[in-house]
Amino acid sequence: MTEQIRRVLVRSLDDITLEEVSAPVPGDDELLVRTTVVGVCGSDTHAAAGHHPFIDLPYRPGHEAVGVVAGAGKGAEDFAPGDRVIIEPNLYCGRCPQCRSGRYNICQELKVFGCQTPGAMTDLFTIPADRVHRVPEGMTDIEAALVEPLATPVHAVAKAGDLTGRTVAVLGAGPIGLLVLAAARHAGAAKIAVTDLLPGKRDRALRLGADAALPADATDLVEQAHTALGGPVDVVFDCVAREQSMAQATDLVAKGGTIIVVGVGAGGTTPVRLDLVQDREIRIEGTLMYTGDDYRTAMSLIASGAVDTAEIVTATYPLEDAAKAFAASVDPEQVKVLVTVDAP
Ligand SMILES: [Zn+2]
Ligand SMILES: [Zn+2]
Repeated sequence: MTEQIRRVLVRSLDDITLEEVSAPVPGDDELLVRTTVVGVCGSDTHAAAGHHPFIDLPYRPGHEAVGVVAGAGKGAEDFAPGDRVIIEPNLYCGRCPQCRSGRYNICQELKVFGCQTPGAMTDLFTIPADRVHRVPEGMTDIEAALVEPLATPVHAVAKAGDLTGRTVAVLGAGPIGLLVLAAARHAGAAKIAVTDLLPGKRDRALRLGADAALPADATDLVEQAHTALGGPVDVVFDCVAREQSMAQATDLVAKGGTIIVVGVGAGGTTPVRLDLVQDREIRIEGTLMYTGDDYRTAMSLIASGAVDTAEIVTATYPLEDAAKAFAASVDPEQVKVLVTVDAP
């Protein structure tokens, strides 16, 4: 009889259960991985609420995963049972122009493991061996679980160009905003202001090294930010991606400056001040996920202690309490919520 495993099934925010399914078997070039830690992402809670433009319900989540290799298919023998790994969840075609130019994060046929395919919020899963990275010696599973969430900010920061000596505003102090702060600091930004509606999140941004943390709903936010940063801002990272944050971004940014859209928009149309974009030569650029280079940079950042894990991971729940993990993750006071999986 094949082993039965538990797997999280999300039908809605109020209907998150464990299904029992047969353990998967690794095919050629695939690994069988036993999950140890898996993060709940903002995209997971958006999807559960039915708000994510690219994730359909029901779905089986888990794209921020750490685990231990439990088996290998033919061609995946570079890995041995017991190897600790993190997954890089972008599943790409390798043939389209974007893939061939190395930008497989925007593959024309991109699927994200745990978003458009069953994910790692389960006991055991299979994944192509080229989509995993070994966890460096000395890195805990909890730290390793932050590599994926940090890789997106690392990619976004790389898009902005050389940040050395430049001023930065980060709109939104959720997990992505706080990790953009860490990545921008590491990339050499001179001064960084973070905005958020919640005082608790602003305090956390200050503890994580922001030079200023400003109330996102202040009527004089732009003046406050310009005062804190010494003038209009070289680069704005919009981790909120709503009409109000884009309006703030275009008012905050310097002439010739850059706005990087990091947050997932609501879907539909978002008004943008094109007159300012044109007149001030503002560059607006989107950013999606990451590639292997960003992953390796994120891993070395975590290994170097550049991210205060205790400030980012605010709650952990066992797999059987995945519903509670999602509920906690919706609480705006939480930053990163993790699910831990113990081998049965
Ligand atoms: Zn994510
Ligand atoms: Zn492709």
